[in-house]
Amino acid sequence: MSKKKSGKSKLSTVEKNKTVLDKKTKQSSKNKERLDKFGSMSKKEIIKSAEKFSSKYCVGDGKKFRLKDWKTKADLNLGSDDKPLMKQTLQIGIEALATMQNILYAQDTWSLLLIFQAMDAAGKDGAIKHVMSGVNPQGCQVSSFKVPSSEELDHDYLWRCQKHLPERGRIGIFNRSYYEEVLVVRVHEEILNFQKLPAELRDKDIWENRFQDIRNFEKYLNRNGTIVIKFFLNVSKDEQKKRFIERVDNPDKNWKFSTADAKERKFWNKYMDAYEDMIKNTSTEKSPWYVVPADNKSMARIIIASAIINALDRMELEYPKVGKAQLAELQAIKKELLTEK
Ligand code: AMP
Ligand code: MG
Repeated sequence: MSKKKSGKSKLSTVEKNKTVLDKKTKQSSKNKERLDKFGSMSKKEIIKSAEKFSSKYCVGDGKKFRLKDWKTKADLNLGSDDKPLMKQTLQIGIEALATMQNILYAQDTWSLLLIFQAMDAAGKDGAIKHVMSGVNPQGCQVSSFKVPSSEELDHDYLWRCQKHLPERGRIGIFNRSYYEEVLVVRVHEEILNFQKLPAELRDKDIWENRFQDIRNFEKYLNRNGTIVIKFFLNVSKDEQKKRFIERVDNPDKNWKFSTADAKERKFWNKYMDAYEDMIKNTSTEKSPWYVVPADNKSMARIIIASAIINALDRMELEYPKVGKAQLAELQAIKKELLTEK
């Protein structure tokens, strides 16, 4: 009886595995089809379909967020043959983004703040460089936040970031941000010793209070016309190791690597806990975190571009309309120019 039972369960396990495999293959070819289509779409269609492409990586309300449910590999099974297609897809996304940024700039009303956080070598710098490569530099500001200076430590932690918020009509990019205050500072609590905080404010609620302040700050920005979206580039520990070794082996990449980076790797699990808690407490419908699978750089860039296009699309941007009187004035100027001697 028990033998029969185990034989049956063995068979059903094989069958189950086969179904899972079939499902995976089907899913991956469906995804590939979508990527193929994405590469041959017009700008308008790209803008419309951007949501589908990145929405599955958007956390939205973070209350139930668990990092282990989120993958470091996108579920597209792409090989090296697909590289040109991915490049072309990203290029089309970049062009669509550039068009939308032009309107954002002309309208001069909304602004967009993009925040990038990740472990070392996850690809933040490369993603920013590639995704924003087509954008008019006049309409875009990138700010990198390092260990705070003594002047910065003489202020509240949002102070240095507030100075770099994007003006209306611009896209601001934060390469690291005030979120370091609940990441590196939480992993290495001794950093708090240098923050000159009044002793009674350094209690057990400090992280909860920081989450609350950040949520309120982003809500405030939203209510003033700055849309905030946040990217966590989710790289695996194995992939980080590979990229670190490459940074040692490739002389052109040596500058990117330091012993400090290798030291931080030892705190991997603590960082993951801090990221999870941060996303859980600060991802909202209006200012969501995107958890971007980052083991494949090209895929990560496509997802990021799509998410940005989607955020801009939701602003319902339009070139400013010119009134009848101004139109007549323009025609008069044109006439004058044409008859100029
Ligand atoms: P990188 O971006 O690789 O040049 O490194 C910048 C370093 O500055 C990282 O190790 C960050 O963790 C660190 N950093 C950024 N913001 C803060 C902060 N508020 N407090 C302490 N360290 C920070
Ligand atoms: Mg670094």
